Amino acid sequence: MENRLADIISASLQQGKLPHALLIETLDLAKTQSELPDLVAMLLCETPDYSASKGCGHCKQCQLLMAGNHPDFLSIEPTTNSIGIDEIRAVSNKFTTTAQLAQAQVVVIQNAQLMTENAANALLKTLEEPNAKCYLVLVSVGYVKLMPTIISRCQQIRQPVLSKDALKQKYPNLPDYLVGFADQNESLLVKMAEPDELNEYVRVYQSFITWLKGQESSATLLSNIASKDELIEFWVYLVSRRIRQVLMKGYLQPAEQAQALIHEFNFTRRQVKGHNKALALTSLVHQLEGLIR
Ligand SMILES: [Zn+2]
Repeated sequence: MENRLADIISASLQQGKLPHALLIETLDLAKTQSELPDLVAMLLCETPDYSASKGCGHCKQCQLLMAGNHPDFLSIEPTTNSIGIDEIRAVSNKFTTTAQLAQAQVVVIQNAQLMTENAANALLKTLEEPNAKCYLVLVSVGYVKLMPTIISRCQQIRQPVLSKDALKQKYPNLPDYLVGFADQNESLLVKMAEPDELNEYVRVYQSFITWLKGQESSATLLSNIASKDELIEFWVYLVSRRIRQVLMKGYLQPAEQAQALIHEFNFTRRQVKGHNKALALTSLVHQLEGLIR
């Protein structure tokens, strides 16, 4: 059976070895989020069910958690693409007051990799003065994305995920390129496998292959990918795979040029929006024509 995050925490808790700062690194945020309620309940519950790796579900702590208003639990979930110093102050404030109802306090920071440098430094202060009655759980998307000084003060736990080969076996009907693109993010893979979504990805793939053969114009390719960020992301993945092929065939210079263009595109598309983004994409597709086809 597949390992759950909560099982790892449960084992450490029973052995009395759970440190007060945890860093959960995940490639599949949705999967981690689905396991967080059990994990938090185990930390606050009066009679945790360690064998099932969850709270009892009946005590006052569990009831309040399930109702979403436990005074000793705080979850920071960024709504923009950064976590600033104000959010971290809320964490520090929580940890300087004592627990109101439970034996401990729990703060979860989701998408902790989005902390600004100032925010991370502020958090460091909290980590340097650990409070025995507090658990800080950082959830970071991707591996080793936080400052080394923060990582070194936490116990690192990686969300168990299936390997690409195991995912191929589990979803034999999905094309390899989709499993490759999902990059061990099973929740994303399942979402992309829904019929309407799958059709779009297959269409982009086929369009790209036809374009590579010179049987489709760049304008047609563009019309197939430009509608959604997810599809552009997928197409960039296909281009990167193609660049590796070109490189292996010994065409060093075009491969490097194409790589540089993709690198620049990835950088700018995170900064600019709307019309300029469409222009950048159009320009990229045309420039790639002579490099990877
Ligand atoms: Zn309970």
